[in-house]
Amino acid sequence: MTRPPDVTAVGERKARASTFSPLTTKAPAKLNIRLKITGRRPDGYHELVSIMVPVTLFDEIRISPAAEGIHLETVGIPVPGDETNLVFRAAEAFLSRLAIRRGLFIRLSKRIPVAAGLGGGSSDAAATLMTLNRIFSHPLSRRELAGMAVRLGADVPFFLNARPCVATSIGEILEPLNRWPPWWYVVVAPSFAVSTAWVYDHFKLKLTSPDREYILNTLKKGHFEPRDLLENDLEAVTAKRFPVIETIKEQLMAAGAEGALMTGSGPCVFGVFPSETKASSARAKIESQDLGTIFVVTQHG
Ligand code: ATP
Repeated sequence: MTRPPDVTAVGERKARASTFSPLTTKAPAKLNIRLKITGRRPDGYHELVSIMVPVTLFDEIRISPAAEGIHLETVGIPVPGDETNLVFRAAEAFLSRLAIRRGLFIRLSKRIPVAAGLGGGSSDAAATLMTLNRIFSHPLSRRELAGMAVRLGADVPFFLNARPCVATSIGEILEPLNRWPPWWYVVVAPSFAVSTAWVYDHFKLKLTSPDREYILNTLKKGHFEPRDLLENDLEAVTAKRFPVIETIKEQLMAAGAEGALMTGSGPCVFGVFPSETKASSARAKIESQDLGTIFVVTQHG
């Protein structure tokens, strides 16, 4: 009898770690430099083409041994500490897949704003899977981890190998972009959250041209400007409900940004700068305007 490759022998492999030293992993945020919605699948998921870049704003996951059960402690920005947390769900999926009975203490230090378009929950889930796979001596292959990741959320596979990528399908097909420009970003996080589901519910699909080819052709050029790529189909939906998004974009442009865009389903907005000095000076210019929390970041990894 043949078994599907995804489950081959996993249960037969030894997940070794009777006890282990605590392990800490950084979970980066992401920015969507471009996000085009290209279709809707019968199961309700939207198909998209997106450029995703991991950036130097991090949550942190620390996993240490416990006698039994999964114990999650959250510090920093408030997030649910129960079984709805993606960290908990990722740990549960990993342990049950490998029939591991060992208990875990997990501490999630939350610095990435929540429901902000920065992908923090997905990144935490990926960091949890990768940390557990390390602790238990790599019982799961990359492919098996990716399969587990996409069941936790469409953006989770991206964070398993966080580097600039073109993401297609529902976000889980990833093509690395090896020559991503060394841009700096000023990220403004307004103090309110936006539900991704609400934004997609209010999005009206238009006919779109093939975007993956456009991206790859633009990136092939020796020189391109941020404005050649910065576009987010979800921005109009979120900005209609929260006009401050337009205000933040205008302020970032007035402070010298070469382009400004909302990331994901928002409400975070980022400006693109050619250097850290220019990004920091823009931050100083907009700081007094009370637009939200401001981070100066660059590509991670
Ligand atoms: P995306 O860009 O993928 O839409 P996001 O940054 O907008 O993500 P998240 O911060 O990942 O959104 O959180 C979305 C929802 O998920 C929140 O309402 C939150 O309650 C829930 N959630 C569950 N686990 C976590 C986690 N570890 N960190 C943040 N949010 C979490």
